[in-house]
Amino acid sequence: MRQFNVVVLGAGGVGKSALTIRFVRDVFASAYDPTIGRSFWRQEQYHRPIMVDGEQDALEVLDTAGAEQFTSLNEVYIKVIKSTLPTRHLQTNAHNSAVRSWIRFGFQASLVSDLKEVESLRKQIFRIKGTENVPIVVVGTKSDLVNEREVTTSTIESLASRWSLPFYETSAKRNWHVNDVFEDLTRQMRIRYPPE
Ligand code: GDP
Ligand code: MG
Repeated sequence: MRQFNVVVLGAGGVGKSALTIRFVRDVFASAYDPTIGRSFWRQEQYHRPIMVDGEQDALEVLDTAGAEQFTSLNEVYIKVIKSTLPTRHLQTNAHNSAVRSWIRFGFQASLVSDLKEVESLRKQIFRIKGTENVPIVVVGTKSDLVNEREVTTSTIESLASRWSLPFYETSAKRNWHVNDVFEDLTRQMRIRYPPE
């Protein structure tokens, strides 16, 4: 089992926290829910194991908050690449402390954003990383709100295909295609950072 870092980027209010919390806790959390409400406004980091193609890895998901998404701290988080990071000792089986695996951190960024912000986020990620070889998934959110739709599927699909990026339309509320996003990222990460 390895652990990969995911950064969720996008404008405020697009649904980054709802998407993240649906993936990590499998609930549709309201920002006004007193038990988790505060985490909606703040930057939070979550951990979840993920099983993809019969193999288990884990994701460390950083849910960024609004205008803070490109603070220098986040830039460091985004910039850090596998080869420069120390290994970390993780227990993978609570019942057998002898079963441990050495895990290296990789990086990836995923995008949840208004259309006009996606292009600038993409540029910033490539600048920070110094390469275009970065696992990214473009995510459309709130697909249950059909009447409030502003961007057509075909518009964003053609943009994503021009960039050669996978695109998913999701609803955190209805749990539509949320896992697909993180499974796609996990597959990309395995290819980008093959085990030594
Ligand atoms: P963030 O600022 O990007 O983290 O956005 P939030 O996750 O806080 O979501 C902003 C608002 O959109 C909140 O009121 C959410 O309840 C709502 N929202 C988020 N995802 C969905 C969704 O899939 N469907 C619907 N109907 N509303 C959503
Ligand atoms: Mg949020």
